[in-house]
Amino acid sequence: MLQVSREEEYLFMGKRRRLVEQLKGKGITDQKVLSAIEKIPRHLFFDDSTARPALLDHAYSDKALPIGAGQTISHPYTVAYQSELLAITAGEKVLEIGTGCGYQTAVLCELGAKVFSIERQRSLYEKSRQFLPMIGYRSPKLMFGDGYKGWPLYAPFDKIIVTAAAPYLPEDLLRQLKVGGIMVIPIGEGETQQMTWLKRTGETAFDRKVLGGFKFVPMLQDKQH
Ligand code: SAH
Repeated sequence: MLQVSREEEYLFMGKRRRLVEQLKGKGITDQKVLSAIEKIPRHLFFDDSTARPALLDHAYSDKALPIGAGQTISHPYTVAYQSELLAITAGEKVLEIGTGCGYQTAVLCELGAKVFSIERQRSLYEKSRQFLPMIGYRSPKLMFGDGYKGWPLYAPFDKIIVTAAAPYLPEDLLRQLKVGGIMVIPIGEGETQQMTWLKRTGETAFDRKVLGGFKFVPMLQDKQH
């Protein structure tokens, strides 16, 4: 993990406050989401080998940045937007697909969710499993596996968030959503994908809203060792 001095820590707090102001300017209003982002040390989540030079300049700018294994941490705006759409209340069971570096996982924890998160890249899974407890997040359950299959053992979930672009709606995830539950998932295979909000209104009934273009790394099939 990166070692950061007290002065840097202070600087980062200021940067986080400014990031929160930017997110408000872009339309994020959920106070709990904004407080989570103000609190979580995003600069500690990057790939150590690439982080140092980029760290001070970019950790709290609204950018997607490398986290290793060819993957990226989502833009803070995207994290905030998806989190807001989930409308989490404390104690809800939330399934996340694409743990990555665990930043979104930490946001979900701060919102009081019981978090279950799946990652298909072993190195990222291992890193997050070790790192999240080191900064105080001991409760999320992490799994190395294929998110297309969900996590039947803990289903059904109140909320499901997918943080990689899916070419279609994964059947297993729909099945593992509670009636009344919400899923937020970017759908599409092109340059940009459509953020999609779904609410399960009955055994086979879903409300659906398509909310505009975002850029995610693709949701891939099967685990990668
Ligand atoms: N939530 C992450 C975003 C990481 S990018 C963060 O805050 O850092 C998306 C992640 O989804 C990548 O780590 C990628 O490896 C993972 N992913 C892609 N397809 C997947 C699948 N089928 N199952 C689980 N994880 C997947």
